[in-house]
Amino acid sequence: MNTGERGDGFVHKYRQNRLLFASSIILVIALLAGCAAPAPEATPAPRAAGEALRVVATTTIVGDVVRQVAGDNVELTVLLGIGAEPHTYEPTPSEMTAVYDADVLFANGAGLEQFLDRMLESAGGSALTIELAEGLRLLEPAEEPDEHADEDEHEGEFDPHVWFSVANVIHWVERIQTTLARLDPPNAGAYEANARTYIQQLEELDRWIFEEVDAVPSERRKLVTNHAVFTYFAEQYGFEQVGTVYPVGPGTSPSAREIGALQDAIREFDVPAVFTESTVNPRLAQQVAEDTGIRIVQLYTDSLGPAGSGAETYTDMMRYNVRAIVEGLREGNAE
Ligand SMILES: [Zn+2]
Repeated sequence: MNTGERGDGFVHKYRQNRLLFASSIILVIALLAGCAAPAPEATPAPRAAGEALRVVATTTIVGDVVRQVAGDNVELTVLLGIGAEPHTYEPTPSEMTAVYDADVLFANGAGLEQFLDRMLESAGGSALTIELAEGLRLLEPAEEPDEHADEDEHEGEFDPHVWFSVANVIHWVERIQTTLARLDPPNAGAYEANARTYIQQLEELDRWIFEEVDAVPSERRKLVTNHAVFTYFAEQYGFEQVGTVYPVGPGTSPSAREIGALQDAIREFDVPAVFTESTVNPRLAQQVAEDTGIRIVQLYTDSLGPAGSGAETYTDMMRYNVRAIVEGLREGNAE
């Protein structure tokens, strides 16, 4: 049963020294001021009938999945806007207020939202925090071609982008449903029915992805992306992540040697396309694509797309990305 809710079992090694330092200062100030730090395991009382549950979701992707399960029964606030980049995001004061007022906060966790711990400490309140990736088998990204040179710098850092395997999102849905039902018993039946319908759509999506990727010959199932987002996709659907433009993450510029190693990998594996994302500046990827003579294809990875993009919901985003990946890789290199 999912009751623990701060993900203490989680390893957050995502370069959090800076965050830890800032958090410590906030904690010290809070203690000096005589306020107790918010109890992480605090569980709000179930809602009274007629009062909507106040729910906060971190990213647009988490928000969409919460909406599918919650329907119109909750008051939902999504912190990050469309196109916002979660790894380096900083919440505004009004978002802090929404978190303070919330009954429950849904995050992906697994180190994606690096602002989360600090935000929860300074926002206070008694919101239950559910890290949806908790309980999933987390994977480390495949080693970069040149990574041995950097010792074990990134060892133990998991790829947080669990939603690229549809099976993981089914796990999200189940956790969202049980959490909402527990906090809002009068609407438990609606949450269960919504979750059941949505899980059917997700199962159909998963089957569709397997059928679509069949069009890509196995020797061309090599992914080069802006940052390491496809560890779960690669494992589930039979691809290999052979290189990233930003091996450490979107907030850290790659070295000339890392770029050189990426270009070598693109040539070695004869990769026909580099995949960029709406949330990360594509300038470096464009340079790499130009230097190696390969195509550049934009995907939606850490945020849903804007209206009219064809990636406005999680399921549409997955279909959009899979079509673009299949299109980008099936033909092989143009040269
Ligand atoms: Zn990301």
